[in-house]
Amino acid sequence: MALVTTKEMFKKAYEGNYAIGAFNINNMEIIQGVVNGAKKKKSPVILQVSSGALKYAGPKYLKAMVDAAIDVTGVDLALHLDHGPDFATVKLAIASGFTSVMYDGSQYEYEENVAKTKEVVDYAHSHGVVVEAELGVLAGVEDDVHSEKHVYTDPTQAVDFVTRTGIDSLAIAIGTSHGAFKFTGEPKLRFDILEEVQKKLPGFPIVLHGASSVDPKSVATCNKFGGDLGGAQGIPNEMLRKASSLAVCKINMDTDIRLAMTASIREVFGEQPKVFDPRKYLGAARDNIQALVEAKIDDVLGSANKQL
Ligand SMILES: [Zn+2]
Repeated sequence: MALVTTKEMFKKAYEGNYAIGAFNINNMEIIQGVVNGAKKKKSPVILQVSSGALKYAGPKYLKAMVDAAIDVTGVDLALHLDHGPDFATVKLAIASGFTSVMYDGSQYEYEENVAKTKEVVDYAHSHGVVVEAELGVLAGVEDDVHSEKHVYTDPTQAVDFVTRTGIDSLAIAIGTSHGAFKFTGEPKLRFDILEEVQKKLPGFPIVLHGASSVDPKSVATCNKFGGDLGGAQGIPNEMLRKASSLAVCKINMDTDIRLAMTASIREVFGEQPKVFDPRKYLGAARDNIQALVEAKIDDVLGSANKQL
């Protein structure tokens, strides 16, 4: 019934072999859809904000809406900065009341990444905020984050990084990617790397970015009503459920929210061309996001009835 850090959430998720869903938020309908889904399933949830979303909605609006969501629903949730690009953005998020931040120093050389991440950890911990960082590089595009190809996480380096920076969770690269076009051939994740990291860092929470399943039905609805998303493909639910039963405690899903929202709005516009009341199409989008989150909790995360 509160805004919390991810510490207790991850501890219980690790021990219980499930994961917490982290959904990207940009506006009121997305927040309500996600939180209503979590409430229905009695699941904890992480609402995360990219630096693009911070610019779009502004930290004050986002924090006030998240506070309202907690008041109304009583859901336990963490408010997390996704891909914090620099110390200034991390400080802004912490000053705005976020309980968790990601610092993404992946553009720097390893030693510089360690030093910069450590600086963020010291600052965040002194404010009671937890820190996620990332090692390895995910392919794909999402907001300001993009890369041409995968660089898988090196498990030995992961141990060194965690030990020297004092981070609270680590995002690793095992073949997931940002965006709606994750695979051109057969989906494949490097579970051997995940298992090796888990063996070397027992009990330490691992995060999967770029882990949307890209529901073919949502893609088909988008395309049927004027969209152009041919070839979109995500991570199969069974692979994500397997990861969440291992050391993965947080699964990031942004693309799936975007697709659910866009599919609903396109469908309303396509089937009811006379509609111009925003509540009609945004309300449909909110309902569809809630249904998506409930399905994720059941099929991917295993976090139903795990409120703190
Ligand atoms: Zn990411």
